[in-house]
Amino acid sequence: MSCYTCVEVCPYHSAYKKDSKVAFDFKVCLACEHKPCVDNCNSEALMRVGRNVTADEVVEIVKKDIDFYRNSGGGVTFTGGEPLSQPAFLKAMLQLCKEANIHTAIETCGYADTEDLKNIIPFTDLFLFDLKIINSNIHEKYTGKPNEIILKNLKLITASGTPLIARYPLIPGITDIPANIKQIAEVSAMAGVKEINLEPYNPLGEEKYVEFGFAVKPAFDSFYTKAELDKIAACFNVKGIACLPA
Ligand code: SF4
Repeated sequence: MSCYTCVEVCPYHSAYKKDSKVAFDFKVCLACEHKPCVDNCNSEALMRVGRNVTADEVVEIVKKDIDFYRNSGGGVTFTGGEPLSQPAFLKAMLQLCKEANIHTAIETCGYADTEDLKNIIPFTDLFLFDLKIINSNIHEKYTGKPNEIILKNLKLITASGTPLIARYPLIPGITDIPANIKQIAEVSAMAGVKEINLEPYNPLGEEKYVEFGFAVKPAFDSFYTKAELDKIAACFNVKGIACLPA
């Protein structure tokens, strides 16, 4: 619908008319607390997504599929964002899952308080752990944070004996440079990582930037070839780390 109510009520002029439709400046909307456009949208074309829930509520929903998990050998994966940014909530859900005998996995960037991590390891069956860049200065340049704590947490998990699969996002010219591939293989081997998954850059995601009104700045716009991925995988295989190109 194009009733333009959102355009009228938006105090920040984020909603605007464009080619007889409504467009938004989503950078402004991200900081908008009350979102009067949603409250005034009678057609429900605009809605808030997400609601506050307790750990019990989440796990009650999870339990509805318990037969499916058992038959498929699956379980629950806590992901995000970053699940370890809500450590108490995460731990409560993990504990409830364990009480119900549900397998638990956590996808994490590894940038978490080490004490929080220690608290949740006993209730976690599998970590899916990002390894992006080993040089801490370069890591900070591209992610905004240094990586010392990430590498420390990696060792903490592998030393605990909890299964861990590392995940290596391949970003052309940034994470896939030969020096970084070599360092990731070395650090993984030293930390006792047994398996690493390559996650090659997928240019199809660029459409989402356009959808949300962000500029696309592709320094690269193609898929990795099988030969390129095989070559990278071999750098891990030679160190005894299982690595299957995605
Ligand atoms: S979320 Fe806020 S800033 Fe964005 S269109 Fe709605 S009222 Fe405007």
